[in-house]
Amino acid sequence: MISVEEALERILSYVNVLEPEEKPILEALGQVLTEDVIAPFNIPPLDNSAMDGYAVQAASTVGASPSAPVELRVVGELAAGYVFEGEVTPGTAVRIMTGAPVPRGADAVVIFEETEEAVHKAPTAVRRLDERVRILREARPGNNIRRAGEDIREGQRVLARGVVLRPAEIGLLASVGRSTAKVVRRPVVAVLSTGDELVEVGQPLPPGRIYDSNAYSLAALIERYGGIPKVLGIASDTVDALVAKIHQGLDADMLLTSAGVSRGDYDMVKDVLAREGKIDFWTAAMKPGKPLAFGFFRSGQRRIPHIGLPGNPVSSMVSFELFARPAIVKMMGKTHWQKPTIRAIAKDRIVNRDDPRRYFARCVVTEEGGRYYASLTGPQGSGILSSMAAANALTVIPEDVDVVEPGEEITVMMLDWSQGEEWGTA
Ligand code: AMP
Ligand code: MG
Repeated sequence: MISVEEALERILSYVNVLEPEEKPILEALGQVLTEDVIAPFNIPPLDNSAMDGYAVQAASTVGASPSAPVELRVVGELAAGYVFEGEVTPGTAVRIMTGAPVPRGADAVVIFEETEEAVHKAPTAVRRLDERVRILREARPGNNIRRAGEDIREGQRVLARGVVLRPAEIGLLASVGRSTAKVVRRPVVAVLSTGDELVEVGQPLPPGRIYDSNAYSLAALIERYGGIPKVLGIASDTVDALVAKIHQGLDADMLLTSAGVSRGDYDMVKDVLAREGKIDFWTAAMKPGKPLAFGFFRSGQRRIPHIGLPGNPVSSMVSFELFARPAIVKMMGKTHWQKPTIRAIAKDRIVNRDDPRRYFARCVVTEEGGRYYASLTGPQGSGILSSMAAANALTVIPEDVDVVEPGEEITVMMLDWSQGEEWGTA
């Protein structure tokens, strides 16, 4: 039996960051950038108005107040997206909308609220005018003007290789005109369920059989963490069936199997693994999920890492979070693969006696009055998938702790941050 850390270290030593691909920016959400992105121009490209108002020379407004307005001649108006060809000179103004480039000669914008003007609609373009406006407040040079390049300067590195593309980064890429980006490609992860008892959903359920749920929870986890699941279906408990299915998965970047790694009579995965590849280890000191296989299959020159997850639905999901998720995340080029852990106060008694394994019990973490509390989600059997559905976290009870009493502080690993109504956010 090896520790959780050692198991993870061994697995990670077998997986490598995948190659880059170039793809449309919106399809790259959550992927890691493999290039530095340099701004080809200033953003904003020109000085422009931060408000709707009048572009003026600040010097023209000296002394303006509600009791002593300064009247200026309005020589034009200008919406965002257009350039005014004329000039603002002493005593003149241009009616300007937010985002429109500041006309030559102007050095400030006086907002509508500080003017009295003829009734207008927002302009749709640019035109010359000959009207008058009364300015009710003195402007200072620079008022309500956004400077060219104040967001990003031409030549500046906008995004560095290695960043994960979130919505803000996708927006930045678009703002510098990029429609595609070079990112580490997503890993294809094949998922194979094993067991004579398993039936594919959509089929009738004969007596003594159960539906294959692991393929679905695991494929959903793969997708959540950025991989592309390739569901291979169910292999019955025969070496031939298993070998045939495994071969279908060898074009993937990683293969996950569930079940068939414990000591049961029909547990074949380990035998097949030994025949077709190499086994790295068998058991990790964790509960649930002790039986765990790791190794690789050979396919020509390639080595396809394989994680043999336990069959019990909770065990397979917990083992995925601890071992498969980091492997996927590493292949995607990310460097932080741990789920966040926090300290929380146990609401229940948690017993880990006579068991030198780390205990990942399913729990709900809630925040009350600035403190976090963890309650167990009912029966903790490793087959009780509903305990996982009710949870947003796992306890991390160390191997050498026998009992946690209510009120004691424990470490919990957050699977989700939401506290109930919507678990579904990654
Ligand atoms: P095994 O590792 O084959 O001994 O399986 C352990 C337990 O997990 C058994 O109760 C299996 O029926 C159950 N199990 C195995 N594979 C699946 C699966 N794909 N979906 C749901 N339950 C499973
Ligand atoms: Mg089985």
